[in-house]
Amino acid sequence: MIYMDHHATTPVDPRVVEAMLPWFTEGFGNPSSRTHKYGWTAAEAVDRARSAVARLVGVSAREVVFTSGATEADNLAVKGVAAAAAPARDHLVTVATEHHAVLDPCHRLERAGWRVTRVGVGPDGLVDPAAIEAALTDRTALVSVMAANNEIGVLQPIGDIVGRAHARGVPVHTDAAQAAGHVAFDAAALDVDLVSITAHKMYGPKGVGALVVRRRTPRLALEPMLDGGGQEGGLRSGTLNVPGIVGFGRAAEIRAAELASEGARLGALRDRLLAGLCAGLEGVRVNGSLEARLPHNLHASFEGVEGEALLMALGDIAVSTGAACGSGSAAPSHVIAALGVDAALARASLRFGLGRSNTEAEVDQVVERVVTVVKSLRKAG
Ligand SMILES: *Cc1c(COP(=O)(O)O)cnc(C)c1O
Repeated sequence: MIYMDHHATTPVDPRVVEAMLPWFTEGFGNPSSRTHKYGWTAAEAVDRARSAVARLVGVSAREVVFTSGATEADNLAVKGVAAAAAPARDHLVTVATEHHAVLDPCHRLERAGWRVTRVGVGPDGLVDPAAIEAALTDRTALVSVMAANNEIGVLQPIGDIVGRAHARGVPVHTDAAQAAGHVAFDAAALDVDLVSITAHKMYGPKGVGALVVRRRTPRLALEPMLDGGGQEGGLRSGTLNVPGIVGFGRAAEIRAAELASEGARLGALRDRLLAGLCAGLEGVRVNGSLEARLPHNLHASFEGVEGEALLMALGDIAVSTGAACGSGSAAPSHVIAALGVDAALARASLRFGLGRSNTEAEVDQVVERVVTVVKSLRKAG
């Protein structure tokens, strides 16, 4: 098997596993235990991890709220801002190509009486900051735009959007689950208010992530979704997942050190993959901007083939047609549909997510397989 689906998840780096292990056994203490060394030691480990995660995204440690992942962080951001908003603020602005972890909370709020504007994207998958600005009203409570798309890998112009939203007094949330640890992402430089990240997309463990809540004056109003012991400044109660958080911290440290070199390597592999596919086949269409894009992403449609048949025939190559969470349904992805790609072509598309294990030889193997399979499906069709 060749694994080329790193947008769905990544394997845990062995260095991360090694860092985590002691915190299951000797270091099992509850970091909220203030009366003995078991608690203090665990709290120190959490503090170190918090600093490492904060450094990766350019914020201070006290701005990091640990969660169970990016889904929870997205829910906390959208629903938490909505719940804390003044009654006169009952409008949200987001983008049609967001992850379901943002779109579905927005939809739930809509059913509860909120108004939601879903701004469209261009054929390149990018949202126009002016279109976001045009959607803002005096009733807007939050703008939520992802940093990098999980299907087509395009990088949205967050800094520009933040400038325009802040000029109208509206805070901005960004889902950076695919961006953080893969491209330079500095929440302070972008001046963004809320950022969702997750460990398992950057060679850390599943089930741990964070919502970055920037310290503002006046304080950004955010209602917690979980009440209880008051951990994480009261924003996320529940005993901290110490081994997971330590793993997240170690993964963040490693990504900070290796991001630039690994990004360049994977960018070259992605270009090789695309060049190989285009050399071997007619009718290959790249979905989304190639320039404003994660280096390790390629998303392409293959004219004249059936999507399901394509995936089936590629059995020993782990790629996907869209988001992992959306698979199982035959409906074409809302992201590809938003680009204006027709449904048949949208279904006949593959998402390649390159990652640390992938080599030139694997890319060449994948090119050969895809070219052979597409040619034979076209002949049969
Ligand atoms: C993976 C992903 C999520 C969900 O993250 P979990 O940690 O699995 O909950 C949310 N948004 C984006 C953009 C993602 O890629």
